[in-house]
Amino acid sequence: MAPSRFFREACFIGGEWLPAGADFIKVDNPATGRTVGRVPKLGRNEAHTAIDAASGAFPAWRAATADERGAYCHAFHDALMDNQAALAELLTIEMGKPLAEAKAEIAYGAAFFKWFAEEARRVYGDIIPAPSANKRIIVTKEPVGVVGAITPWNFPNAMIARKAAAALASGCAIVCKPASQTPFSALAFGVIAEEIGLPKGVLNIITGSAEAIADAFCQHPALRKITFTGSTETGKLLAAKAMAGMKRVSMELGGNAPFIVFDDADLDAAIEGAIASKFRNAGQTCVCANRIYVQSGVYESFAEKMSDRMRALKVGDGLDAGVDQGPLIDEAALRKVEAHIEDATQNGAQLVTGGRRHDKGGTFFEPTLLRDVTSAMAIASEETFGPVAPLFRFDTEQEAIAMANDTEYGLAAYFYTENLARAWRVMEALEYGMVAVNEGIISTPAAPFGGVKQSGFGREGSKYGLDDYLNIKYGLIGGLGK
Ligand code: ADP
Repeated sequence: MAPSRFFREACFIGGEWLPAGADFIKVDNPATGRTVGRVPKLGRNEAHTAIDAASGAFPAWRAATADERGAYCHAFHDALMDNQAALAELLTIEMGKPLAEAKAEIAYGAAFFKWFAEEARRVYGDIIPAPSANKRIIVTKEPVGVVGAITPWNFPNAMIARKAAAALASGCAIVCKPASQTPFSALAFGVIAEEIGLPKGVLNIITGSAEAIADAFCQHPALRKITFTGSTETGKLLAAKAMAGMKRVSMELGGNAPFIVFDDADLDAAIEGAIASKFRNAGQTCVCANRIYVQSGVYESFAEKMSDRMRALKVGDGLDAGVDQGPLIDEAALRKVEAHIEDATQNGAQLVTGGRRHDKGGTFFEPTLLRDVTSAMAIASEETFGPVAPLFRFDTEQEAIAMANDTEYGLAAYFYTENLARAWRVMEALEYGMVAVNEGIISTPAAPFGGVKQSGFGREGSKYGLDDYLNIKYGLIGGLGK
């Protein structure tokens, strides 16, 4: 790859760079199979060092005013945007998504720094009427302390930005452990922290053994909160360990998003929404449409239009111009997609488009459309995390709601209708943390992102996002006279 100043084969602890030594993790470009570079494989001891560094930086950082911290967050935003092209290229090279999507991700990540820089100025307290005249009850909010963040590979920049921006703005120090598949976009945050002069130790990035680092997060007494984005399976393991250390926890876990198209929908808008939701990041997002329910009256025309639209999607290396869909992250992802397609077709689903590994080889897969999919198939209950659009048929609104809610997950849901009463009814009936009506893309820093049921708890972004990084303190002043 073209050397960029953001490319560091070293971890960032207490403002110092710790280069990869004998124990390292090799990172490959999923589009070419070529090695991008290597990063340190750190363990428990180095994680403790990073937590200590954060802990050392915390008192001065929390004592800074919201405006002072906000200024650093604004500087982070500006640095991300000023270097959007270089950061996006690094992201595409290690993760595979098309360059245009990588650029959008950098802008999305940067927007969280701007959002929280402004939101931090509004961390208000309360004065509560006291039960007796000689007392006053005061409520203030304080940063929780050192935060440990564990993030996934599908949004190598934004998943860190969402957490780091809220932590920094609220006065916390943070140690981030990115996914081993995509550490370079994470380490780039260290370069930016250095360039904007962020006090040493406020932001630390460590790569290495997930379990050892997670153990350190759960056990170190100075670490007060763990924020995790990843699979439900890993989230549950981590949450259990975190409880043993009584750490505050936020969990942004898996989804199984329904995408419902009613007979009264604007069909062209629904197709565009379905394509955007399903094929962004090759279907590797926790909010992407996993089950597409189409009402009988528009089922045939939806299937036809969707298939036409999908055939036009260009698959290739994300760095190449005009590419809509990059490779999948690895061989395991490819196998899951194949298993879901095989299970569906063996049980009666029809393959309309795609269905196979792409001629380009590697981990490229054809955009795939399945029809006549039913609830009995694996694809209905598991997150595919790939470019497969399965079409289910339904007749009534109640049936659609029941099928959509028939999952252990509750992250994002989408539906299309032009009927206002139905829009309200269905939005209220869906058991999800986020519901989009007549839109296929839901995330924005201004809105609270998060799930219910097995999709986790806690909210990122919005005016609610800071709460996860703040403790409430109750102060009582008594003896104020008779
Ligand atoms: P994915 O399927 O998206 O890779 P994971 O939940 O396995 O989802 O990974 C998300 C993050 O969790 C990554 O940073 C990964 O390294 C980390 N991770 C994996 N296993 C564990 C574990 N046992 N404890 C804590 N974190 C883990």
